[in-house]
Amino acid sequence: MTATIIDGKVVSESIRDALKPRLKSLKDKGVIPGLAAVLVGNDPASETYVNSKAKACEKLGMYSEVIRQPASLSQNDLIKIVESLNQNPKIHGILVQSPLPKQIDEPTITTHISPVKDVDGFHPYNVGLMLIGRGKLLPCTPHGIIKLLEYYEINPEGKEAVIVGRSNIVGKPIAALLLQKSKMANSTVTVAHSQTRNLAEVCRRADILIAAIGKPNTIKSDMVKEGVVIIDVGVNRVEDKSTEKGYRLVGDVDFENCKMKASFITPVPGGVGPMTIAMLMSNTVTAAENISS
Ligand code: NAP
Repeated sequence: MTATIIDGKVVSESIRDALKPRLKSLKDKGVIPGLAAVLVGNDPASETYVNSKAKACEKLGMYSEVIRQPASLSQNDLIKIVESLNQNPKIHGILVQSPLPKQIDEPTITTHISPVKDVDGFHPYNVGLMLIGRGKLLPCTPHGIIKLLEYYEINPEGKEAVIVGRSNIVGKPIAALLLQKSKMANSTVTVAHSQTRNLAEVCRRADILIAAIGKPNTIKSDMVKEGVVIIDVGVNRVEDKSTEKGYRLVGDVDFENCKMKASFITPVPGGVGPMTIAMLMSNTVTAAENISS
């Protein structure tokens, strides 16, 4: 078997297209959804992410602002910036790009973002709503994964979903979403992590395997069963002198060998990555609709 490659660019484009009539209705009411991204310090990867989010807004005719601050910014000053964005009527979505410098506690900052503008979906209020199946602003990467499955008509209902990784931004929320008693969910969910015994054995149970580890080549072909659906969230730089930058991006999964056993697989790049930005745009439009209604 050779897997069908799940094309995140195609699916993310369809998500953006579906936003256009909603953007038009908002525009008719005089509302242009606005996204503010706060960037603290000058981490090159963060700079790239923030720029691509601003570009995505521009392409859809949305308003965006990037607020750049030095790495020496104090936690109190960052809270003040967030609070002023909470009050800014041009802004419907706020994101504070991670990682933050060590003097700033990220969860503290998240709690200062107004839950109605929390387009990352990380505020405890929104996390709680998601857990009880009432989420309005769902975390972008996990929600994007559900949208990928939906587009390829992979119904997770009744399936064994194994998630490797238990972070607050990917592992735990995708587990919560797949566990819901609802459409595009109803899975039997296992969450594995660095302390899991017999990881290979646990992974081989998976009908749907989601890798969110952050270590290249962790999931090998002998750890998956025939016909598995593999969603590789990992983004890892590995040295590659043949490229201009001297590195290339790979996921957490041994793509070449696993694709011979899987029924569907996401590539890295081009799988989950484009979905995150599309869902961020979608959340910003949702936030603008909620705020203006
Ligand atoms: P994270 O916070 O570092 O969490 C990694 C998880 O993997 C932890 O739960 C860790 O276990 C587990 N883990 C580490 N080594 C393991 C091993 N050998 N076996 C089993 N589990 C292991 O990472 P994250 O923020 O969730 O991100 C994961 C990856 O996804 C990263 O490569 C990140 O860049 C990527 N990512 C991509 C997108 C996107 O494409 N849009 C978005 C978000 C993240 P412990 O909890 O025990 O430490």
